Amino acid sequence: MEVNSIEKGIVIDHIRAGFAMKVLEYLDVDIANDTVAVIMNAASRKYGKKDIIKIENVTDADPAALGLLDHTATVNIIENGKISRKIKLSLPQRVVNVVKCKNPRCVTSIEPSIPHVFRLVDAEREEYSCAYCDEIAKVL
Ligand SMILES: [Zn+2]
Repeated sequence: MEVNSIEKGIVIDHIRAGFAMKVLEYLDVDIANDTVAVIMNAASRKYGKKDIIKIENVTDADPAALGLLDHTATVNIIENGKISRKIKLSLPQRVVNVVKCKNPRCVTSIEPSIPHVFRLVDAEREEYSCAYCDEIAKVL
């Protein structure tokens, strides 16, 4: 795979330096079978250093969930060698089953079948609170 251009796939740019492997894990990319290029510590005018990920032939990742991990990243969906869609990430307002509530008295700790729902309460500090007991959780 050529690193600079792909015909079809996903290019995730402006990933915080050092976060590429985390992002890959999060996207559940099959490193053994998918063609993946990871560029770490590339020079970035905006952030100093950044990571870039290129995944060939995969266009169905879940960028909303990715916003939780790194909302400064940009996701480009590539089709026929051109950017067909550009997705700007932001912190999701609501996340389900990503963070677990640590309050032992919370209903989610007592009843395992209840989904762990967290709502964004402070975007600057990246803080979420449990929808059931208001316990604060930091996602990163
Ligand atoms: Zn809770």
